[in-house]
Amino acid sequence: MAEPLRILIVGGVAAGPKAAARARRLDPDAEITIVEKGQVISYAGCGLPYYVSGMVEDRNALMASPIGVLRDPAFFAKVKRVTVLTGTEAVAINPEGKTLDVRELDSGETSALPYDRLIIATGADPVEPPIPGKDLGNVLRLKQVIDADVLREQMLSKACPRVAIIGGGLIGMEMTEAFTHCGSAVTVVEMLPQLLAMLDPEIAALVEKRMRQLGVHVMTATRVERLVGDEDGNVASVVTDRGELPLQLVLLSIGIRPNTALARAAGLEIGPTGGIVVDDRMETSVPDIFAAGDCTEKRCGAAKRPCFMPLGSVANKEGRVAGASAAGVADRFPGVMSTAALKVFDWNVARTGLTEAEAGSTGQPVVTATVSGPDRPHYYPGAKPVVLKLVADPATRRLLGVQGVGPGEAVKRIDVAVTALTAGMTVDQVANLDLAYAPPYSEAMDILIHGANILRNKLDGLVRGVTAVGLHEALSAGEGLFLLDVRTQDEHDTARIPGSVLVPLGAVRTRAAEIPRDRRVVAYCKTSLRAWEASCMLAGLGYENVEILDGGILAWPYETEEGV
Ligand SMILES: Cc1cc2nc3c(=O)[nH]c(=O)nc-3n(C[C@H](O)[C@H](O)[C@H](O)COP(=O)(O)OP(=O)(O)OC[C@H]3O[C@@H](n4cnc5c(N)ncnc54)[C@H](O)[C@@H]3O)c2cc1C
Repeated sequence: MAEPLRILIVGGVAAGPKAAARARRLDPDAEITIVEKGQVISYAGCGLPYYVSGMVEDRNALMASPIGVLRDPAFFAKVKRVTVLTGTEAVAINPEGKTLDVRELDSGETSALPYDRLIIATGADPVEPPIPGKDLGNVLRLKQVIDADVLREQMLSKACPRVAIIGGGLIGMEMTEAFTHCGSAVTVVEMLPQLLAMLDPEIAALVEKRMRQLGVHVMTATRVERLVGDEDGNVASVVTDRGELPLQLVLLSIGIRPNTALARAAGLEIGPTGGIVVDDRMETSVPDIFAAGDCTEKRCGAAKRPCFMPLGSVANKEGRVAGASAAGVADRFPGVMSTAALKVFDWNVARTGLTEAEAGSTGQPVVTATVSGPDRPHYYPGAKPVVLKLVADPATRRLLGVQGVGPGEAVKRIDVAVTALTAGMTVDQVANLDLAYAPPYSEAMDILIHGANILRNKLDGLVRGVTAVGLHEALSAGEGLFLLDVRTQDEHDTARIPGSVLVPLGAVRTRAAEIPRDRRVVAYCKTSLRAWEASCMLAGLGYENVEILDGGILAWPYETEEGV
């Protein structure tokens, strides 16, 4: 009888346990061992912000199966016949001898574990900024359950009325909500000119605007110079290039990088993004060594280049394929579309594919459309606005990416877009997708389809649009354009873009003499649907200089004015 296959896995959170479970199902005889330096395994890292805020009350829920069974080492041993060595660090891989050197952290004892197949699932570690004072008390990070325990304790003690989050990425945003929920006043300090670099600037600015409305102090384009402590060694203020903020707690969340120390030392190929290079079977450059999760470099289907996409959704899929490959069963992971979603207070935020900025950085020409509107018919209770920005290739008419934000169901639209991108669809195909419709779920012409149609109109030269960024730049530069508001008097008085002239849609034909033919005209309304009507009317009257504001005032993240 053949010897059982020895599968060794380093890392016990998402990719590692998933690989173990898959390998076990495919090979009932294999000897499977997970080596994890921490004490807690198989937990939902993505749920940590909700545990800190108290929305998830039970810590064990993060480590339990849907029916409440704790996924601890005893569970893995009994149910899955997988040995889990917690508190054990893998210190070196010996690919020639096919052994893994490990050290038991409590005793310091070392040993060499033999393997036939090794899976590296070591994840990613927070980037430590070179900021003086970063080691003061109450300067915290959020990566593991133990970090969340400390943060939650602080929040429960109500000892942190003022908190600063350094870094305006996904975790920074989720933690802003968590701290605010606990009653702390939160300042987000971000070095870049915008929050959420995964979005185009004007889309991120909409999220920022919403956060400000909810009382969050946002400081973009701001550099942290140092953290200052009190006499007890706890952080007392953060000094930035725009002033000093007194506070009681700082969360550092400026990003993470793949944890590849073991892989590098063993001579495995590391890619340009810093992740371990794997093929579509998740095999590394060294035979019989596989890798999965945040420690690997991804193939990005949208950008057609390697990327670093540290997400639980991806880690689980990669872990499954790595487990199958290690068990000798054919499976493939084709890569990612750079899809991500998060909740920022009462807003849903998501993206997939390429943003306009990312396309620009690769030299890819694009055409874009930003649309805004309700996620279901306006008459149906609970309808909420969504803003979508679609990016397409003008040469092939292929959809390249979509971003969605707003209190409405943005994520559902992004999931449809992921499918369209994966299938390589054109905007014409997206515009005629047979999406499910009933008033509780969407409009008869879903907002994604509406966006695809606007893109088609743009590609066919039927409409010319300007983005909020483009219009804002033109206005700031004092370009003498004519800003035409075609809404009602009431809407105009409630909030308008500064400098706009009101000519309600119904009066556009009769008052056309007030609209200049020799200046650039930009028309807008709430969503730019009426502006599109107005531009068609004006085109009929011989105007050749009319554009519409993409997405209307609903997608305008900048200042507005009100009053008569
Ligand atoms: C606050 C927060 C919110 C998140 N929200 C989302 C979300 O909404 N959606 C989403 O898709 N993703 C989210 N993520 C990301 C997601 O949690 C990670 O992508 C996922 O956990 C990666 O899994 P992994 O197994 O690759 O690595 P990890 O979860 O990092 O696990 C790696 C493990 O390997 C262990 N290890 C490392 N080196 C060694 C060694 N030498 N020896 C032994 N053990 C070692 C580490 O101790 C660690 O436990 C979030 C993450 C955080 C922190």
